[in-house]
Amino acid sequence: MNQFNQDTIVALATPNGTGAIGVIRLSGPDAVQIANSVFKGKNLIKQASHTIHFGTITDGDLVLDEVLASLFVAPRSYTRENVVEISCHGSNYIIQSIIKLLIRQGARSAKPGEFTLRAFLNGQFDLSQAEAVADLIAADSKASQQVALQQLRGGYSTELQQLREQLVHFASMIELELDFSEEDVEFANRGQLKQLVHNLTRIIGKLILSFELGNAVKQGINTVIAGRPNAGKSTLLNALLNEERAIVSHLAGTTRDTIEETLNINGINFRLIDTAGIREATDAIEQIGIQKTMEKISQTALLLYVFDVENITAEELQQDINSLYKPGIPAIVVANKIDLAQNFHDTFHPYLPDGAVLLAISAKEKLHIHELKELIYNQTIQGKLNGNETLVTNIRHLEALQKTEQALIKTLQGIDRQITSDFIALDIKQALYYLGEITGAVTTDDLLDNIFSKFCIGK
Ligand code: GDP
Repeated sequence: MNQFNQDTIVALATPNGTGAIGVIRLSGPDAVQIANSVFKGKNLIKQASHTIHFGTITDGDLVLDEVLASLFVAPRSYTRENVVEISCHGSNYIIQSIIKLLIRQGARSAKPGEFTLRAFLNGQFDLSQAEAVADLIAADSKASQQVALQQLRGGYSTELQQLREQLVHFASMIELELDFSEEDVEFANRGQLKQLVHNLTRIIGKLILSFELGNAVKQGINTVIAGRPNAGKSTLLNALLNEERAIVSHLAGTTRDTIEETLNINGINFRLIDTAGIREATDAIEQIGIQKTMEKISQTALLLYVFDVENITAEELQQDINSLYKPGIPAIVVANKIDLAQNFHDTFHPYLPDGAVLLAISAKEKLHIHELKELIYNQTIQGKLNGNETLVTNIRHLEALQKTEQALIKTLQGIDRQITSDFIALDIKQALYYLGEITGAVTTDDLLDNIFSKFCIGK
């Protein structure tokens, strides 16, 4: 098919470092011969596909390791080429020695994502499915895993592919009209074409809209915890993370002023950002703290504003909210320390902006923490995610969809204005081009390089 099928590539498929086992993957026309040349045990060339064999890997007289070799004969493998996976002991030294030996026998070091690139080029799946492989590996919550898996299994690419084929049909009909331009014939029924383009525009519009949620599901929802010093922000962060501690990770990029942790609620990751306290900025350093808070809030998807019910006036509350609240971004106002307030009455409600909700809690006594988690989920996700809808999570797809939409709108306008066939054909071709970029029906080397270089080596 192309140069990729000429040579046999090798890489470690498991993570670098010491593990119980390491899996070295070989793929290409000579995978079985190369593996067999260093394998002592059965003759791998004579074995059936989908069988596993115990033996040793030897470099001349030197035994490097006892291994299991799994055989996948083309086209019944991930790459649709001959594949051998060698499971050896997970020592870095052993792994590197075996890989070097295989390279000496004629294999070549695989580039990042090259196994998946070959799978794509050999028709195992389309481009958006190949990208879903990377998303699945990176998935760190139930929701992101589900979305990636759905995409891997076809997702919206099957639907887009079918619509694309119909559009191709119309494009060829219109091209035919160009051949008969003297005779003023119409092979492509304009009513049907309009109907199809309408249909496509509607589906694409829906996919474009799904990106916001899809991206939130994939990346986690930024949640800023803001409030005055001593309002109880750190205590609340701890209370929220209580049960999750074991799986919480400190994310890179954490500064002294903000702490970022991940809280999982109903399978969705919320990235909690505890900001420097809001206070009267009396010196330069404090001003920086406030500035950082404001920056974080401008990127946020949810604002958790915490205040101490015993220590704030309605005016101060209003002042804080005025400076923090951004219309369109959901906000939860958390009245903290109600364990200290004998009879907490929500006298603050009139000061809240429309759409913000108030919940009274005690972070220290862990009162109403569960309700707060429910509220966090409900304010951002509830009703939007039912498990079956298709979500776009990939920015490349989003851009291609937006460009397709523009071309389709132009096509519709053209039909309405009864412009000549050649211009309609041009607009349809544009739409087809961008639509094809999603599934990989249209690819360029740059595009493929860009996508697969982000994969890890061995995938
Ligand atoms: P931050 O500056 O907003 O991060 O506030 P901290 O979380 O450090 O809390 C400030 C003080 O308030 C600490 O002494 C906490 O123990 C206390 N505190 C926090 N939440 C509560 C609460 O719900 N009830 C009571 N009684 N004290 C609290």
